[in-house]
Amino acid sequence: MASDIAANLHDIRLTIAAAAQDAGRKTDDVTLVAVSKVQPDDRIDAALAAGQRVFGENRVQEAQSRWEPRRPLYPDLRLHLIGPLQTNKARAAVALFDVIETLDRPALVAALAAETARQNRHPDILIQVNTGAEPQKSGVLPAELPSLYAAACSAKLRVVGLMCIPPADEPPTLHFGLLKTLADTLTLKTLSMGMSADYETAIRLGATHVRVGSAVFGERKAAA
Ligand SMILES: *Cc1c(COP(=O)(O)O)cnc(C)c1O
Repeated sequence: MASDIAANLHDIRLTIAAAAQDAGRKTDDVTLVAVSKVQPDDRIDAALAAGQRVFGENRVQEAQSRWEPRRPLYPDLRLHLIGPLQTNKARAAVALFDVIETLDRPALVAALAAETARQNRHPDILIQVNTGAEPQKSGVLPAELPSLYAAACSAKLRVVGLMCIPPADEPPTLHFGLLKTLADTLTLKTLSMGMSADYETAIRLGATHVRVGSAVFGERKAAA
């Protein structure tokens, strides 16, 4: 399993480099976020041994138990929260994560602003956009993005970009293109889009961060 994960990471890094080059972009402009949710410890440690340092997690508590013991061993680790955040978990999220990708509502602006000030810790923030306007999905609607962005800026959150999860049953291209347009309008540079099935497409359309889980670690045992 360890050698599989090292090989997977190697292949994905090559694919990222090729997609970036095709798009006339630099390989270094694209960061691989390895999505480690639900994966067993031996797979996490194999990815670390293979040099992977940027990881994505969906749940605050799961991330705490996985990463608090490992963090002191890997000072260059960067942890991204990519799942929905409840306001009562803002304290723990600000303490643990380097990037919070899922700001999506005014109540969370307030909670994150209070915690970043209290802890004097300022993670990078991405606003999650519900590009498909799916009722069950988190993310701010595109029409409400400018006012949420303005509120986050006045609350002194360090908003650096946007994130989206396209609808599962549609080609992702329109959603990636829309996210890129929205980011350009706000002059935001960071674009988190693309997963195992479509990260090459996302890179061609401007992704700076791709969130890849199963292609790195193999299938997850349980849904997350
Ligand atoms: C699980 C998850 C991923 C990774 O999905 P894969 O298809 O396994 O690559 C990416 N982004 C988010 C928000 C996720 O929840």
